[in-house]
Amino acid sequence: MAMELFDRGRLEALEELTLAPYAVKARESGGRLHPEPEHAFRTAFQRDRDRVIHCDAFRRLEYKTQVFVNHEGDHYRTRLTHTIEVAHVALAVGRVLRLSPDLIESVALAHDLGHTPFGHAGEEALNALMRGHGGFEHNRQSLRIVEKLERYYPGFDGLNLTREVREGLIKHRRRDGAEPGGVLPPSLEARLVDLADRVAYDCSDVDDGLRAGILRIEEVRDLEVWRRAEVVAGETFGEIPAELRARQGVRCLKNILVTDLTVTTGQRIQAADPRSAGDARRMNEAGAASGEPLAGFSAECVPLVDALDAYLRDHFYRHYRVLRAQAKARRVVTDLWTEYVREPRTLPTHVWKRVEQDGPEQAACDYVAGMTDRFAIEEHARLFDPASRA
Ligand code: MG
Repeated sequence: MAMELFDRGRLEALEELTLAPYAVKARESGGRLHPEPEHAFRTAFQRDRDRVIHCDAFRRLEYKTQVFVNHEGDHYRTRLTHTIEVAHVALAVGRVLRLSPDLIESVALAHDLGHTPFGHAGEEALNALMRGHGGFEHNRQSLRIVEKLERYYPGFDGLNLTREVREGLIKHRRRDGAEPGGVLPPSLEARLVDLADRVAYDCSDVDDGLRAGILRIEEVRDLEVWRRAEVVAGETFGEIPAELRARQGVRCLKNILVTDLTVTTGQRIQAADPRSAGDARRMNEAGAASGEPLAGFSAECVPLVDALDAYLRDHFYRHYRVLRAQAKARRVVTDLWTEYVREPRTLPTHVWKRVEQDGPEQAACDYVAGMTDRFAIEEHARLFDPASRA
């Protein structure tokens, strides 16, 4: 008897059976900018995920900073490990809520593709340099990468991802509601990725900050949410060896946030009863206006997370060692961009076409934004250190 293959048609049928009515189904996708035949075995969103994983920008995430510069230590988060953490937090919540795991994964794995080298310091520097040329913002850059800058196909630029994944990359976090006209409110899947991003970086920044000796556990105890995490860890394990206290604290912290997000979102979905993915988008947006989006933390948890953000801002991101690294990063990014714009022919030849198409400022911006930390540092030496090979 011939082996029956579990092909795309069956996967799509399985989505109808297992996903919630308000989940975004691959079969209902708004499609791709450039029409392509569907794949025999993979759904549209599974294919998007694979295209993201195989693009150049994804591989460069390994050598891009989260908070620490990439070469500072092997155990700190990089953009790549952060990206994997975001995907797994979002998947953990999304599976319980019966949302589309493939859409979640695609958006999560692509969400930071547009990040510059050296984290937010690099982004701020490029944004300042690009004032007057449209500015720079990493979410927009993620979209630009998948729509334009990646070159894989003969017929078009970019990865030709589905509309749902591309929409998921336009953040979502603009509080002024000034979305460009005609853009749908984000899907629940995309909103979850955004929230998972926050859970992931809040928890990993505490972890990395403690590991680096920049944060001290006695001081982190000022935070209510950390004290709760320690209580949970104590209830589970009793007396915890000192060297494991921080790890268990971070683990329980993450669990508290993920559990709250899952339960709160589940309750709100149940109360609102969206019957379609479109319903869910609209209800989430309408709820957000009154402070209760479908996807979100509970009213009790929001101030705890806000306090954690504020704590990290004051004690971690503004620590002198972090500020020093950021000042260096700004100088490198500014020097590179300024030199390329002053003399575009110092750019490698494969970038020259972009200079003609988009102008030297945008071409230099795209080129610098795409760099890894280590490439930017090496390139800086090649351009400015006379003893370096050009
Ligand atoms: Mg992120």
